Amino acid sequence: MTSESAAPTILSDEARAKEIAKLKAAKGVEMANLIDESEISLAEDFVLPGGETAQEEASIEVMAEQADEFTCASCFMVRHRTQLVREDNGQKFCSECEG
Ligand SMILES: [Zn+2]
Repeated sequence: MTSESAAPTILSDEARAKEIAKLKAAKGVEMANLIDESEISLAEDFVLPGGETAQEEASIEVMAEQADEFTCASCFMVRHRTQLVREDNGQKFCSECEG
């Protein structure tokens, strides 16, 4: 009993092959997990800037001049027609600029 436990563990070729196969399988799972995580983080980084750009474009369209509004030729602000106080050669001026 003592002589057996004191002896160094010598695996047969078959047992060693099994151990190597087990280690390779475990490493394969580890690698697969690492690849999945990096792909997910890359996808998140890619999606976020695109979504923000689309929202900016939509908000610019909302700011477009309406039928009851005009763009002041002096301050270039979109004003309501009630603020139109002067029109000169098709150029309109708001009450703030003319006041
Ligand atoms: Zn103005």
